[in-house]
Amino acid sequence: MELSNIINGAYLASAILFFFGFKRLSSPATARSGNTMAALGMLIAVVVTLFNEDILGYEIIIAGIIVGSLIGIALARYIKMTAMPQMVAIFNGLGGGASTTVAAAEFLRLRSPSGDLAIDASVTILVSVFIGTITFAGSMIAFGKLQELVTSKAVVYPLRHPINAAIFLASLAIIGVIVATTANIPLFIVLIGLAFVLGILLVVPIGGADMPVVIALLNSYSGLAASAAGFAVNNTILIIAGALVGASGLILTSIMCRAMNRSIFNVMFGGFGATAEVTSATAGGGGTRSVRSATADDAAIALAYARTVIFVPGYGLAVAQAQHAVRELADLLMSRGVNVKYAIHPVAGRMPGHMNVLLAEANVPYDQLYDLDQINPEFEHSDVAVVVGANDVTNPAARDAADSPIYGMPILNVDKARSVIFIKRSLSPGFAGIDNELFYGEKTMMYFADAKKALSELTSAVKEV
Ligand code: NDP
Repeated sequence: MELSNIINGAYLASAILFFFGFKRLSSPATARSGNTMAALGMLIAVVVTLFNEDILGYEIIIAGIIVGSLIGIALARYIKMTAMPQMVAIFNGLGGGASTTVAAAEFLRLRSPSGDLAIDASVTILVSVFIGTITFAGSMIAFGKLQELVTSKAVVYPLRHPINAAIFLASLAIIGVIVATTANIPLFIVLIGLAFVLGILLVVPIGGADMPVVIALLNSYSGLAASAAGFAVNNTILIIAGALVGASGLILTSIMCRAMNRSIFNVMFGGFGATAEVTSATAGGGGTRSVRSATADDAAIALAYARTVIFVPGYGLAVAQAQHAVRELADLLMSRGVNVKYAIHPVAGRMPGHMNVLLAEANVPYDQLYDLDQINPEFEHSDVAVVVGANDVTNPAARDAADSPIYGMPILNVDKARSVIFIKRSLSPGFAGIDNELFYGEKTMMYFADAKKALSELTSAVKEV
């Protein structure tokens, strides 16, 4: 059998593993095996490509694999769950940067001494470089915002749309000139520079609260850049893997937009978050409204005598690493005959699936996790809703206040429960930077404490009831 047939057969096997791996990622019960399948597909693709192409000496490739693996292992072991979104942003950026590098190398390799380059090669190379560089620069800004190295507020400046449009059109013109004439290196460098600036300018005006969507979109861009690089270097599996990442990133982007009731256009160009003001009683200073603050004993009595309790986890649960503590309390309540459910908002936390991952780590049974649509009708029949470090995703202003920056974002109808226990450390706002009317509601008990500490105290107190 010819080597090329063996290689294509192996690529086909990789692609099949990717497809089925992706499919299994759609449920928490099968996600681990899905991840392993996709990783196996990637291993096959990498090994086969190394046999196929002798672009570099094996010493350099092995050195690269060792250095990359060590960095990957260190990141996987030491990065906290709360910093995952930043890590995903870096991964996307590196994916885009890698596509730019591969395509740029191909540009230099294929260019004849007189500067000629076949049209099909130059188009795919230039598209890959353009999208890859935008992804790299945009992802670095997204990382900076999430890591709070740069302001997470939307930075809006005058004429930003015309400026971005001008850069985009200038880039298209340069691509046209390079394709139509010669593979001109100075123009190629200008194109990379313009794409870099465009990547920064596109993400800077987007507020921190919209970063989940931006990251999903940049993920999609990194896939498109990789796919174009696959065409440029004529590698089937890179085309397939890039297209899969591009498509799944787009699907995720659209799911996230729906979860916030916003269009992708509004997220990218709306400057959301630029005007959000902090108005809570303590955070803004000056407010005079009072809240009912609860002790562990008050809250434990409400829980111990409840028939149905719904836990609403949010970002604070991740910060406090309180997933095991919430499960302990839930187990105790269930042993006393309480019906326990968890309400999962699609953008609770700081990345898609954040809450599912945390609760899965604590072995919370999947059948106790309910999506927004499933759980919302249940709140009015529940005795207690326990909000653990969530805020924006419970804010009734998103439903009722047309002037709120989060108006239209679907929320968990926690305010419909017979009583609400709100666990957080203060009256500070959440990611969107706005006050939450629910704190001041008659049915609400504020339990001011770190989530893990509060849940352990509650577990002890319920045992005493
Ligand atoms: P929020 O950011 O609205 O609120 C989290 C709350 O947790 C804060 O009000 C904070 O209050 C509290 N908190 C922080 N640390 C602790 C702790 N150790 N113990 C107890 N409480 C704590 O989170 P939500 O999950 O409700 O909403 C997610 C928000 O993030 C949405 O606006 C969403 O759009 C945005 N977002 C979502 C992403 C995603 O992909 N899921 C990504 C990026 C942003 P206090 O300081 O008083 O304790």
